[in-house]
Amino acid sequence: MTAHVDELTPYGGVTADAAWAEEVRRLARERDAVLLAHNYQLPEIQEIADHTGDSLALSRIAASSDASTIVFCGVHFMAETAKILSPDKTVLIPDARAGCSLADSITAEQLREWKAQHPGAVVVSYVNTTAEVKAETDICCTSSNAVDVVASIPPETEVLFCPDQFLGAHVKRVTGRDNLHIWAGECHVHAGINGPELAERAAADPDADLFIHPECGCATSALYLAGEGAVPAEKVKILSTGDMLTAARQTQAESVLVATEVGMLHQLRKAAPEIDFRAVNDRASCRYMKMITPAALLRSLREGADEVHVAPETAAKARDSVRRMVEIGTPGGGE
Ligand code: SF4
Repeated sequence: MTAHVDELTPYGGVTADAAWAEEVRRLARERDAVLLAHNYQLPEIQEIADHTGDSLALSRIAASSDASTIVFCGVHFMAETAKILSPDKTVLIPDARAGCSLADSITAEQLREWKAQHPGAVVVSYVNTTAEVKAETDICCTSSNAVDVVASIPPETEVLFCPDQFLGAHVKRVTGRDNLHIWAGECHVHAGINGPELAERAAADPDADLFIHPECGCATSALYLAGEGAVPAEKVKILSTGDMLTAARQTQAESVLVATEVGMLHQLRKAAPEIDFRAVNDRASCRYMKMITPAALLRSLREGADEVHVAPETAAKARDSVRRMVEIGTPGGGE
C-alpha cells in the first residue's frame, strides 16, 4: 500500500468463488462464528451469510445465537449495536472503516450541548447512531416505530429528535407536535432520492408499485415525500425488509420501483424473479456498505479483525435506550 491510497479503498484482490466460500465457512466454524449480513451488502456477502436482514433484526439474532463470535457484515454502528446487545461475545466487522454519514452527523458532545439548551427534554435517536450517542439517548427508535415512540412521551414534554431530519419531519407531521426539535442530519446516499426524481419515475410507470424500506435511514426522504403527496399514496408501500419480500411475492404489479439502497434489489429479485424491480435512483449505493468485500471478510476471519469494542458503562447506558424502544412498539421488520 502506498501513502497515497484512498483511506477508504476497500480490501480487494479476492474473487468470491467456490474455494473462497469453502474457506469462509471453514474459518467461521473454526472461530465458532455466526455470519450476519445487512440487506445492503454485496450479493456475494449476502449469499455466504448465515442470516441476512436489517440491523436490529440481525442484532437480535446475534444476541440469541449460541456462537461466541459475531461477524457483522454491515456498517460500524450496526456492529456496535450487536456488541451493546451481546457484551460477552466477540464482535468483528470485516472493515472498521465502514462508517455511516448519518450516524456521523451527530456526536455525543454535540448531543450533550443540545440537551443543555433544552433541559428536561426527552432525547429520541434513530438507531443509526454511535454507541456514545445512544448512551446519551433516552429512547432509540427505528423508522417503523418512531411515531409510536414519540407519541409515548407526554405531550407537554419537549422532544429532541436526531439525527435524521427527514424521519424527524415525518414524525412531526404525523404527531402534529410543535415541541419536537429536529437535528439536521441526513444520509448522503439517500439525499440523492429527491422529490422530482421520485415523482418523475412514478409518473413514467403509473402501474408500478413503489416500495419504500424504512430502515437504515436510507429511505426516510422517500418516506417524507410520500407523506407530502409527491407520489400517489395508494401506490406507496412503506415496508420492513420482511414485509417487502412478502409483498414482492404477493403483488399483482409487473414492475416495482424501489426507493432505497440498491443492495435490497438482490433479495427482491430472488423472491420474485418475474417482477421487474428497478431502483428509483441507481446511484443510491452506500460506499461504506460496499467496503465489506470478499477480501475483507476473509481477512476478518483469518485475523480476528476488526474487533468492535464498546466501553461497558457506555454499552450499559446505550442498552437501556434500546430496551426502552423495544418496550414501546414494534421496532420494525426482520428478515
Ligand atoms: S446508506 Fe446511508 S444511512 Fe445507510 S449505512 Fe450508508 S450512509 Fe448510513
